[in-house]
Amino acid sequence: MNFDLTEGQKLFAESVRRFARDNLAAGALARAHDLRFPYDVAQLMAKQGLMGIALPQSDSGQGGTLMDAVIAIEQVAAVCPRSADVVQFGNFGPIRTFAEYGTAKQKKRWLGELLAGRMVMSLGMTEPDAGSAVTDLKTSARQDGPDYVINGSKVFSTFSPDAQIFLIYVRFGPGLGGIGSVLIERGTPGFTIGSPSEFMSGEEWCELHFNECRIPAENVLLGPGGFKKQMAGFNVERLGNTARALACGRYAFNAARDYAATREQFNRPLCEFQGLQWKFADMAVKLESAQLLLYRAATNADHGLPSAYETAIAKTACNQAGFEVSSEAVQIMGAMGFSRETLVEYCMRRTRGWMIAGGSIEMLKNRIAEHVFDRRFDQRKRETPTAAE
Ligand SMILES: Cc1cc2nc3c(=O)[nH]c(=O)nc-3n(C[C@H](O)[C@H](O)[C@H](O)COP(=O)(O)OP(=O)(O)OC[C@H]3O[C@@H](n4cnc5c(N)ncnc54)[C@H](O)[C@@H]3O)c2cc1C
Repeated sequence: MNFDLTEGQKLFAESVRRFARDNLAAGALARAHDLRFPYDVAQLMAKQGLMGIALPQSDSGQGGTLMDAVIAIEQVAAVCPRSADVVQFGNFGPIRTFAEYGTAKQKKRWLGELLAGRMVMSLGMTEPDAGSAVTDLKTSARQDGPDYVINGSKVFSTFSPDAQIFLIYVRFGPGLGGIGSVLIERGTPGFTIGSPSEFMSGEEWCELHFNECRIPAENVLLGPGGFKKQMAGFNVERLGNTARALACGRYAFNAARDYAATREQFNRPLCEFQGLQWKFADMAVKLESAQLLLYRAATNADHGLPSAYETAIAKTACNQAGFEVSSEAVQIMGAMGFSRETLVEYCMRRTRGWMIAGGSIEMLKNRIAEHVFDRRFDQRKRETPTAAE
């Protein structure tokens, strides 16, 4: 067992860090507070080979590994946390499920534009009455001749104000086996996008409404029975969320360390107070241990899609470490940490959201407990037996 990156991975990390320093360091603070998708960054990253890192070259990807994509997130976020969203979008988000299961015709139409950073895709999974209980989703796809007609609503979709193409989870029929997904373009008649609402992180999302929205059958991504495949693809998205949470925690940690080394109170640098030294020690333990779990999940995933258990345990650890460390970094930097003069408060707000998005910490712990006891715990309310039973 070797816990070091390989020489190739180290060289790749250095080249991404150089790219980030040269192109993304300037404007990092302003970018974090700009609500719109940074197409300029996406197009730069496309030229640098940072989109579709783990996709095969036959899909216009780079033929690399998921671990390479994790390294890219880490290196970009260390310089510009907001730009790591673009690495997420181009490597881990719905684009990955799309590339995995899309038909040649679908990919020809959209994948090239997405990987070039000229188009954004948004995932519509959550509904007003189907959050953690995602399999309760009601948005329906009814076959009508050569078409499907979509009815229903989605909420909270990342990038929904900017996206041109939406990967929408739908119900073709009853039960788990009735769930699949379709691709719907902005502007399709019957598809309306509400005005943006804002998360605490500053990100915006729009309600998506489908009212007798007609799409051709060739826009079906995964038909009935596709839910398991969708979740397998979604585990990749979870790893991206995991990597960003940890990377934001590390950004905040580094900022707080540099601040504590130079800021003086009582005629001494802050780092000489033991009360703060122990905070840094605790933060280092959280970051280092979570990173090992992330690397395990990503490295093992290179032999296929990541395991649900390894992803759940890595996401739980990295989400918690990312938020706790960035929150502690705010404390260590005092009013400066709480101020928008630095990106530390931004890291705290972003990491808070990832404890809910992509599988909440509680739902992930349910999954981990199933592994511990090697049995499934149904979360659904059981019908109370009647007296006759
Ligand atoms: C930043 C952000 C980005 C997002 N991006 C997207 C996106 O791109 N596309 C999309 O479709 N959705 C997106 N979401 C929505 C996200 O998937 C849901 O918020 C998530 O699934 C939880 O659903 P909910 O918010 O309805 O909470 P609920 O399901 O109502 O849960 C509320 C609370 O109860 C807990 N809980 C629920 N059930 C259980 C249980 N069985 N055991 C223990 N605890 C439980 C939850 O963990 C949570 O703490 C995003 C959310 C956020 C915050």
